Amino acid sequence: MLDKVKHVILVLSGKGGVGKSTVSTQLALALKEHGLKVGLLDIDLCGPSVPYLLGLEGKEIYQCDEGWVPIYSSEDKMLSVMSIGFLLKNRNDAVIWRGPKKTMMIKQFLTDVKWDDLDYLIIDTPPGTSDEHITVMECMKEVKCDGAIIVTTPQQVALDDVRKEITFCKKTNINILGIIENMSGFICPHCTTCTNIFSSNGGVELAKFANVPHLGTLPIDPRVGVLSGTTLSVLTELPDSTTALTFKSIVASLTKTVEAQ
Ligand code: ADP
Repeated sequence: MLDKVKHVILVLSGKGGVGKSTVSTQLALALKEHGLKVGLLDIDLCGPSVPYLLGLEGKEIYQCDEGWVPIYSSEDKMLSVMSIGFLLKNRNDAVIWRGPKKTMMIKQFLTDVKWDDLDYLIIDTPPGTSDEHITVMECMKEVKCDGAIIVTTPQQVALDDVRKEITFCKKTNINILGIIENMSGFICPHCTTCTNIFSSNGGVELAKFANVPHLGTLPIDPRVGVLSGTTLSVLTELPDSTTALTFKSIVASLTKTVEAQ
């Protein structure tokens, strides 16, 4: 039930491990800090990590007549969360559904969650190289969506997969809201010097090449990992960090673009 949801944004990646779920959760938290009512839907069947990232593991979800009821991350009810991970007993359990059962489950998660009035719904999707990704994108045809954000790391091998993802979005008529380059350089917590461990600017170059916006470049920041297991935003916890400033600017440009569409 997405009829009470104003804007739907997909978060995609070319491959796993690039920080897609971290970006999805911190983006949801940053939008909430912006005073918006947000939902976060985790349908990454390959590794539904949102319950872990927000410290909500083990929470029970239940179904009412109108559908699945999401979990509120805080008492102010400004962020509600639904994840395939809530259906697994243990984070290390694999999702074993196959074929039609898997497709049905994805469809149900996209359409049968009883979301409140939301300003934004962020959807964390399975990585681009997986079968699950195709299933989700097929199901997305029936969902009205403002567009997708693609998360990548700067290495060439990750960027190659993102190129495929961009082509995929263009073929399936999914609007690309922009690219976020994550893990781009390491900022030393002691001297704040940035070391480009892999390389940098690949996301910027790719955005230029594909003619899509570059939303921001996030460094590797171990303090971001420390926030895992909490519902704390980098905006409030690390307000002067490059990560927080980048998320602020991502929220500003994203809300401007989406609300003007
Ligand atoms: P994905 O969803 O793409 O598989 P995750 O969001 O689960 O990736 O991130 C993989 C790991 O990398 C996690 O342990 C996360 O804490 C860490 N991580 C992601 N982005 C950053 C970052 N910018 N700085 C430090 N650690 C990060």
